[in-house]
Amino acid sequence: MARYLGSSCKHCRREGIKLMLKGVRCETAKCPVEKRERHLGPGQHGWRRGRKSDYAVRLREKQKVKRYYGLLEKQFMRYFQQASRRKGNTGQALLSLLERRLDNVVYKLNFAPSRKAARQLIAHGHVYLNGRKADIPDITVRIGDKITLKNNERSRKRVKQQLEANPSFTVQGWLQLDPEKPAATVVALPGREDVQLVVEEHLVVEACSR
Ligand code: SF4
Repeated sequence: MARYLGSSCKHCRREGIKLMLKGVRCETAKCPVEKRERHLGPGQHGWRRGRKSDYAVRLREKQKVKRYYGLLEKQFMRYFQQASRRKGNTGQALLSLLERRLDNVVYKLNFAPSRKAARQLIAHGHVYLNGRKADIPDITVRIGDKITLKNNERSRKRVKQQLEANPSFTVQGWLQLDPEKPAATVVALPGREDVQLVVEEHLVVEACSR
């Protein structure tokens, strides 16, 4: 599967917000967005500013969502097409679908410090979905799905260490976590309020509909 191998911080600097792509480092003073580089885009001409065209505004909103969930264009457009076939608000349907990705769910359960780390945990076979190994990060979870870990000490130890390292982490209401096992159940579908990214989804839809 194709994936982006460049700098994650570059993405945050381009969007001018913290996309929290690097886990623990994002909470520290080492974050370039914290170091007043917020207004400087990456690259030699990053200082250039000016009025953005309507196209640029829409493009930035779309790129923000793509980068937040760690997707490439083709993968993202697949989600958009899926969302546009659904009834109701396409933007909200898109965000809900993205929230339901298994790598996002593993991250939201605090089993991993970032979505990237969650993807690695899944790809390495540590995560089970409904009792079966789930090593594909883009599986869409449904209500009633049970997320457990591989039945070995290494998998449990790795996740427990992460849970203990961040005890104040709050699991969202659509997920139910049993930190002792550790295991979790999807009890509802995520709503717009569960998406922590500040984004205007109607602009994303307009960018994708061109
Ligand atoms: Fe880098 Fe994280 Fe800061 Fe983004 S939020 S710039 S990924 S340290």
